[in-house]
Amino acid sequence: MRVAGDREICMGAGVCVMTAEGTFDQDDDGIVVLAFDRVSANEEKVVRNAVRMCPSGALRIVAD
Ligand code: SF4
Repeated sequence: MRVAGDREICMGAGVCVMTAEGTFDQDDDGIVVLAFDRVSANEEKVVRNAVRMCPSGALRIVAD
């Protein structure tokens, strides 16, 4: 499983980092940065939660 983050849409709420900090990070402006686009098996559930909870819809799951 992979995840993508659209930095043009991200509003810097930080929900993704709080939900799955192993996969997501934020730059100095609070905009999402993907630590790894390939999600480890043990992080899949929290990454799916982060995608669902992102208030701007900037995150999406990408098929392998
Ligand atoms: S949860 Fe969404 S809006 Fe918030 S930092 Fe992450 S990608 Fe950006």
